[in-house]
Amino acid sequence: MRLGMVIDLKRCMGCYGCQMSCKAEHGTPPGVFFARVLKREEGHYPMPRRILLPVLCNHCSDAPCVDVCPTEASHFAEHGIVDIDKDKCVGCRACMMACPYNNRYFHDERRHYFGDAGPTPYEEARSERHPVGVVMKCNWCRERLAEGKDPACVANCAAKARTFGDLEDPNSEVSRLIKERSGFNLHPEAGTGPNVYYLAP
Ligand code: SF4
Ligand code: SF4
Repeated sequence: MRLGMVIDLKRCMGCYGCQMSCKAEHGTPPGVFFARVLKREEGHYPMPRRILLPVLCNHCSDAPCVDVCPTEASHFAEHGIVDIDKDKCVGCRACMMACPYNNRYFHDERRHYFGDAGPTPYEEARSERHPVGVVMKCNWCRERLAEGKDPACVANCAAKARTFGDLEDPNSEVSRLIKERSGFNLHPEAGTGPNVYYLAP
C-alpha cells in the first residue's frame, strides 16, 4: 500500500477548512501550517480570476528530506508516510533545505496564541508533539489513520475536494480520479515522486 491524496481544484473553494482543521488536530504553534491554502489573483476587471492551491507535504516516494537527514530522524513510516522522529532530530535543518516544496518547519522557540496568558490546555496537551529545536511537518495524521479515520484535512473539507487512499490499488478512489481526470503533481521536475495529486479546475 502507498498512501496518497488527490486534491480537486475544481471543488476547492478556498475556505481554509483544511488549514484550520490541521492546526486544530496537531496543535501547531503560531505561524506553522502543515496544510496551507495559497491564493493568487490573475487578470483584471471584468474578468479577474482567483487561483486557489491547497498544499501540504507530498510524502514523496524518493524524498530528499529522508536522504539528507544525518540521524535518520526523517524516515519512511508505514505505507510510505514520511515522518520525523522528534527524539532523533538534532535540528540541523538539512531536510528543510532539501525539500523543494517548503513544507517543513523548524520550531525555534515556544510561542502561544494568547501570548503572556500562556498556553491553553489544548496547546499544552499537544506541546509534547512539538519540542523546541526540532523540525516538524505533516504526517498525514498518523494517529487518526491508526483509528481508521481520514486525515483531518480530508475529513473536514466541506467541499469534499480532498480524497485519500491507496495509490497502488487500481480500484481505489484516488487511482480512479487520477486516471479519469489526468491527475498531476506539483514540480514533477524535482524528481521526488510526490504522492499528492491535483485535478485541474
Ligand atoms: Fe520531504 Fe518535502 Fe517531499 Fe514532504 S514534500 S516528503 S518534506 S521533500
Ligand atoms: Fe534530520 Fe532533524 Fe536534521 Fe531534519 S533537522 S535533517 S529531521 S536531524
